[in-house]
Amino acid sequence: MSPERDDLNSFLRDYRTYIEQQQAEGQSWYFDEKSEAPAARSREAAATPPAPVTKTPRGAPPAQPAQPAQRTQPTQPAPQAQQAQQFEAACAAFVANTLALIARHKETVPEQGNIFSTSVEEPPALDRDAKTVALTELAAEVTPCRQCKLHEGRTQTVFGAGNADANVVLIGEAPGAEEDRQGLPFVGRSGQLLTEILKAIGFARDEVYICNILKCRPPGNRDPEADEVQACEPYLQRQLEIIEPRVILCLGRTAAHTLLGTRASLGQLRESVHFYAGIPVMATFHPAALLRNPHWKRSTWDDVRRLRALHDALASDR
Ligand code: URA
Repeated sequence: MSPERDDLNSFLRDYRTYIEQQQAEGQSWYFDEKSEAPAARSREAAATPPAPVTKTPRGAPPAQPAQPAQRTQPTQPAPQAQQAQQFEAACAAFVANTLALIARHKETVPEQGNIFSTSVEEPPALDRDAKTVALTELAAEVTPCRQCKLHEGRTQTVFGAGNADANVVLIGEAPGAEEDRQGLPFVGRSGQLLTEILKAIGFARDEVYICNILKCRPPGNRDPEADEVQACEPYLQRQLEIIEPRVILCLGRTAAHTLLGTRASLGQLRESVHFYAGIPVMATFHPAALLRNPHWKRSTWDDVRRLRALHDALASDR
């Protein structure tokens, strides 16, 4: 065998090991399925540490071993470990900044100790059963809704699904064809990817709550229109009022723009935490966008790990 071939085989062995490790850790969702190489990073991720390996042209071997165990200098941390350390540090800083912002937010709007209350007196918190009942009642109100033109084309409304007492609420844009058929949010292709993303950060779907800005499918999956958002937003507000999540994750630009009332780019919105009625809000790419642009998956992985870290910090703060 030629030395080049030997090198290539050795590299492919390293690369396979790396993939197997990532899969074992539940991190493989962010690989680009088409190339089987880890997805390249978007420019928007420049502020965070680079991915362990870069995407290579299809059919060509990856340019560098992802985790060349045999070739690593014993005295130096492997690049992957270094990147992990850098991410941990950036993530810890993000959580610390966010906790400080939350504390400041509470000081400036003390009457919003309970997120939606307008009086200083906090209403008693609902327990999980009471929240489930309240959501069921609200869903029954939404089912026959005819507040906007979207009722004309829908099969059924898609209210939302998951844990009524969830710490994390994920908000998408609007139901697609499969969601309209089943009456459940995120059950099509992008929903499958969302399930994988959640699994990778240790959340089962029924642990969180998933819903959309709009409860009815827009024809041909077009973007929501202003009058539709205006008609539907009170339902979302009431969902959030009942659930009282610790943190909200907006999936995609439309959800973030609608919830936060901003036109800032998703890149800008991803960089920091925002607030909706006193609840911290983070934003990341929509799973459907990730299916079209797999190179954004790696940045999404950073976002959802920050979400998990913030969730854990807030949960231990209870
Ligand atoms: N896209 C969304 O925004 N929501 C869904 O429920 C499904 C796809």
